Amino acid sequence: MELAQDIIKGNRTALGKGITLLESTLPEHEKIAQELLKLCLPNSGKSIRVGITGVPGVGKSTFIESFGKLVTSHGKKVAVLAIDPTSEQTQGSILGDKSRMHELAANKNAFIRPSPTSGTLGGVANKTRDSIILCEAAGYDIILIETVGVGQSETTVSNISDFFLLLMLSGAGDELQGIKRGIMELADGLIINKADGNNITNAKNAALAYKRALHLFPRMENGWTPKVSVCSAIENTGINKIWDMINNYDSQMKSSDWKSENRKKQNIYWLHHTVKEELGNKKYKLLLSKGKLKALEKEITKGKTIYHLLASL
Ligand code: GDP
Repeated sequence: MELAQDIIKGNRTALGKGITLLESTLPEHEKIAQELLKLCLPNSGKSIRVGITGVPGVGKSTFIESFGKLVTSHGKKVAVLAIDPTSEQTQGSILGDKSRMHELAANKNAFIRPSPTSGTLGGVANKTRDSIILCEAAGYDIILIETVGVGQSETTVSNISDFFLLLMLSGAGDELQGIKRGIMELADGLIINKADGNNITNAKNAALAYKRALHLFPRMENGWTPKVSVCSAIENTGINKIWDMINNYDSQMKSSDWKSENRKKQNIYWLHHTVKEELGNKKYKLLLSKGKLKALEKEITKGKTIYHLLASL
């Protein structure tokens, strides 16, 4: 398939077209999309997938622009994808908008794609997972997956990323309020943004408070201690440190094999999630009790796509 070859060659227009096919709900596109995914899959997997969340206004797009420019200055390619948890209601995407990251959008080593515009959160996430495969096949080294900090979307994004970054602001003495503990527990890196001007001391104090708070949390299964850091996305300070943090994490997780184990676990999670969503809870439970899903779990870790397996049911 020519489109797959063009994507693998790193053609950005082809990548955009491929993702449009994946996101299409037209039945005639579905088959081509699945074929495309199958062809791209063997070339995928090599990136660092970084989930980014934070409340509106925390500076996500400013941070992504700044971080993305740093990544490309190291000769790496960066892709920005987004998951909009409100897409179901609004039918429109607010995240991953190129106009919010215009400098990065103009960089030939960057690819920016807004959130899929409709579907359930799980459905949108599945499409984003497929888009990640295509981006990786196209040679993107860092995939940033942005979501806004409301509701379930943080858990969803952490379930499709290797490293999960939580952007925060220093509050007026109430640093630990207003942010759900559950979300903090998901974070591999916690960044206090807007550490500039009069706010530098506040931000540093907030970082200390978070560091102390994180000590009280249960240790992560993978042996990583979540790191806390400050930055100013607008003044471009502290961004290098975050780049180092993510690279350190990645090399540690690769050498302990956690990275691939975790991705296997994520694939299994999405397999169960998709079967439930597509076939309903009753059928899911039936398949589970017959041991059918255990067999599919084995298949998925061998690199089959979820759609391929669903079709076999
Ligand atoms: P998002 O909603 O999380 O994507 O946040 P934006 O990136 O759109 O930023 C929200 C506002 O905060 C904008 O007015 C930015 O200019 C500002 N902002 C973002 N990062 C910084 C920063 O590091 N320092 C300061 N002072 N302002 C920032």
